[in-house]
Formats: sequence, C-alpha cells, structure tokens
Amino acid sequence: MYGWTGKTLFIDLSRGKLVVGESSRENLKLYLGGRGIGSRILYESTSPDVDPYSPDNSLIFSVGPLVGTRFPGSGRYSVTAKSPLTGILGDANSGGYFGPELKYAGFDAVVIRGRAEKPVYIMIVDGEAEIRDASDLWGLDTWETEDRIRESTSPGVKVACIGPAGENLVRYAGIVNEKYRLAARTGVGAVMGSKRLKAVAVSGEGMVEAADIGRFEEVCDKASELIMEAPGYEYFSKYGTPSIVDRALLAGRISTRNRQTSIFPEGELLSAEELDSKYKVKDRACFACLIHCSNYARVMSGSKCVGGEGPEYETLVCLGSNCWNSDLASIIEMNELCNRLGLDTISTGGTIAWAMECYEKGIITREDTGGLDILWGDSEVMIELIKMIARREGFGDILAEGCARAARKFGEEASRYAMHVKGMELPAVEVRGAKGFGLGLAVASRGADHLRALVNFELIGYPPELGEKLYGSPDSVDPLSIRGKAPMVKYHEDLGAVLDSAIACKYTFFTFYTLSAELLAEALSHLTGVDFTVEKMMRVGERIVNLERHYNNLHGITRKDDQLPRRLLEEPLPEGRLKGQTVELEPMLDEYYKIRGWTSEGIVPKEKLLELEIKVKGER
Ligand code: SF4
Repeated sequence: MYGWTGKTLFIDLSRGKLVVGESSRENLKLYLGGRGIGSRILYESTSPDVDPYSPDNSLIFSVGPLVGTRFPGSGRYSVTAKSPLTGILGDANSGGYFGPELKYAGFDAVVIRGRAEKPVYIMIVDGEAEIRDASDLWGLDTWETEDRIRESTSPGVKVACIGPAGENLVRYAGIVNEKYRLAARTGVGAVMGSKRLKAVAVSGEGMVEAADIGRFEEVCDKASELIMEAPGYEYFSKYGTPSIVDRALLAGRISTRNRQTSIFPEGELLSAEELDSKYKVKDRACFACLIHCSNYARVMSGSKCVGGEGPEYETLVCLGSNCWNSDLASIIEMNELCNRLGLDTISTGGTIAWAMECYEKGIITREDTGGLDILWGDSEVMIELIKMIARREGFGDILAEGCARAARKFGEEASRYAMHVKGMELPAVEVRGAKGFGLGLAVASRGADHLRALVNFELIGYPPELGEKLYGSPDSVDPLSIRGKAPMVKYHEDLGAVLDSAIACKYTFFTFYTLSAELLAEALSHLTGVDFTVEKMMRVGERIVNLERHYNNLHGITRKDDQLPRRLLEEPLPEGRLKGQTVELEPMLDEYYKIRGWTSEGIVPKEKLLELEIKVKGER
C-alpha cells in the first residue's frame, strides 16, 4: 500500500498473545489513520458498559499516511482509549520522533487489550514484536524508563512510556515520548497503567512509499515554502507557543485565578521574551518540522539544573497565571516534574487552581489537605502537590481524580469552581474573550479541548470581508462576536480531524493559514494513490467527528453535556478590555447542531450516519 504500511499489530496482554494482521483498507480510506482509525477501532471494540480501567478497554497507538514523510509537522502519533477522566472517547496526540519510528517499524496501528499479570513493555522491531518483563522499570520516572530501555536495547530506539502517575492511575496521566513530548490529555497514560504496560519501544528501518513520489515531493516543498514565507513565521519559530502568552496579555485575555479574571498584573514575568532572554538554551523541533516551536529551557533548582523542552503556552497559563503564579523558574521546574511523572500540565494546573479557590473560600481546609496551606501563587506548595498527585498521596489522592470528581467530595459550591467540560479540565484560553473557542470547547468530542476546533482564525484580525466569505458573517473575525462561529468551528473541526488522522501538526495549518485544504488533499492523493478531492477529504473529517459524537451519544452525551462552566456563562469578566463579557453559548449551539445535521439535543440521527457511510456496530 502507498502511504500506509498495511499492517496492524494486535496484542492481548492477558494472554500474552501478539498477532500481526492486515489493516482494514476500507477503514483506512474512510478514516485515514491516527485519530480517525483510533476512534473507529475504539467504537468497534468497546461498549458503553466497559470500564476505562477494565482489561476490555482498548488502547490504540496509531499513525497516519503522512507520518514519517517530509510533509511539514508529520512526526506525530495518536493514542486512543476510553477515557478514565471523562468516561467517553479519549485520545491524545504527541509529536517528537516516536510516530515515524512506529511507521518505519511496519505498523499503521497497535491495538492493545487485556491486562498483563505483571509489569511489561512491548518491543517492536521491523515488523516483529514481543512482550518483555518490565518489573525493574515499574516505579521509575519516564526519563529513567526511556534511558534504561535504550541502554538495554539500542540508543536509537524510540520509547513511549508512563511514569508513576500512569502507574497510580491518576486520571489525567499522559504517555511520554523522548522525555518531553506528551500524549497528554484524557488520561490515556492511566489506561496504559491499568494494563500494567510500562512502555512501548519501537525501532524500524522501513520507509514510506508514495504513489507518485515526484508530485508528493513538490507538494511538500510548496508547503514548506508557504510556511516559511508566512507573516509571523519568524516570530513564532523564535518564541514558539509562549508568544501566545504575550498576545493574550495584550488582549486582556489571560486566564487568571481559576478564571476569576483575565488580567494578570505580573503577566510580563511569564512572557515569551522573559523565557527567551533568561532561560532558553535552544530551539527544538519535532520530526520534519521547520517551525521548531519548542523552546529548550534550563534553570537551577537548589544545586540541580532542571528543565528541558517547554514550558508551552498551555503550561505557562495553567501552572502560572491561572494559579496566580508568576515565578517562571518554578514553572520550568514543574514542567520537568510533570514530564518525568507523566502528568498532563493542563489538567494538573486546572485541578490545583480549583483547590486554591476552594481553599481561599474555606470549602477545603487544612484538615483536608493534611496541613498544607494551598495559597494562590505558592509555587513550593504546587511542586509538593504535583508529587503528591502522582503518588496519590494524602490530599494528592483526591486531586488525582481531576477537579470534577474531586469537587463532588466537597459539595455543590465546590463543583461551581471546577472548570471542566465533560470532566476534563479547561485549557488555557479565556473563552469569554474568544467565543468561537467557547463553542469549540463545549462540543469537543474529548471534553474541554482547544485543539479539536483550533479556531485561531477569530483571533488574527482578518478583514470582515474574509469572515463574510468563509463563514457567512463579517463579524466572525471578531472574537467577541458569536456570529459565524458555528460554521467556523465545524470547518476547523472537520479539517482538524483530517490533520489528526493524516497526521500533520495543526500548528502548520492553523497558525499562519497559508496552507490550504487543497494542498493537503493533493499531498494525500499523491502519497496514497487514492483520489482525495477536497470534498472527499473534508468528508473524511466530517465522518470522524460524527463517529466520535455517535460514540459519545451511546455513552449518554447530549446537549446537556455540551456546556461550559457556569462561571464562563454567568460571571462577566470583572476588569480590563473584556470587562462584562460572558459566553452566549445556547444560540451558537443551536446553529452548530443545525449545520451538523444533528437533532436539537445534539444527537447524530441514523440518516446522518448512513449519509457519511458510518457503519453502525453490529449492522451490516
Ligand atoms: S509546530 Fe511545534 S509541535 Fe508542531 S510539529 Fe512543529 S515543533 Fe512539533
């Protein structure tokens, strides 16, 4: 097959069995790979009554046709499982080099089920795989784990592993590859821990064959040129995602004190310039990426030098302003800690911010915390809490459940301050100042997620005529308007699903908007030999979004769950340029469901499934 390897590895950890099978050609064409194929396999293999920690949950590592090629940003992989954080579809996506290596090792996907009797890791080399004992790795952090596996195998091996957080079933544990890259969200690392699977290690010498290598290379060259010539490229590649902090500060749109306000007076201390001038050592990039958005930063902590890649914008806000913490050095240290322990910094920060507000309001007391004062901006306490969360120790055991579950232990008022959607903590963006993002977070298929519909379009300041042309309203270019946001979210979700499945990093498309759907369709066609017109390709994206919604519908998800925390709907921002803003969600939801062809309750009707060629489980 061109583009794909044509092989899927099926592993049953309970029986210790490994089988190499053919990838379903039909499914690859319908769902591409990565997130799409992961969602399809999850839908086919898990029913609503499967507990996320049960051996019957599936854990799927998958790559797409673009992975391992020269196409910009194609060094990613996807991990899919039923989420222990939300109880619905869960997936996460990570960059670095693990994804291409899995492809070179010969597989489109690895489907893992069952639970090993004792800790194991999976070694995959050039089309062959074995389950190995990992008893001596259990308990190690992710950096130690990777080093040990490479020492005992080969230095070139790529490792995706869990740390203590995944082993201890922290509901927002991630999977870490190359020490700094995380498939962070929805608790896929905890699912891995529940299977007693410490790591997946891969090594391969294969290559990706293209149907028309000449024309595919031309499209790759064109894509690279368009990225490097984009206005803003130099700036973004120098400062990376921390530059978004600067833009958010300027706009008065930085989530602060568990979103009680959007103004952080000490925000300059978290700026891209501050990181660049004081702590940055060098740029880092994922495989085949010329944006190199990642900053490698170091800082002294006592007698130790700590740091590594990051912190990214999300981490700077979630462990910074949103916890009233302006100590950038402490965030670099916490970032390393989360990487080593295998924790999602967004959910970690969101849960700590919730605890800080509850402590401030007297809902949580010193008695609950075991004597810790959880005060705003106390970075030493935050570091201690992160360690306690990963070990599920004392109050950390409660925080390890995520803010939604933890809040239930402290009553209704505590739940009011839990900033989550469908159980997953909110990302950095202050959606009262970015209404399209608000809609995107409310309807995203994996809970509060800014990447399903990365509608940066509304923040760039494009001319109203362009908004009118693309999304039917000149006001759509205004982040404070709700007009045109439903079609904008739908478009970004559909194209985003293609990118997550192909796989190419969304930043290559949704940062500069110089790469088009036409270019992506051309690349996929020349690579795979399948004729992907733009229409056909966008239909793949729409199919994936609808399949995921159908899966979630089967788990009871409807309009009542497509909500934002009450604070964002009812509490106007108290100060700054966004003073008075809330999110007017309901009219956007009405329009969104209509455009999607869903019922007014947010259910995908059977006709829609048929129209999109989504085979319903159990039906022929
Ligand atoms: S833009 Fe950043 S995250 Fe995306 S592939 Fe490039 S380096 Fe990785």
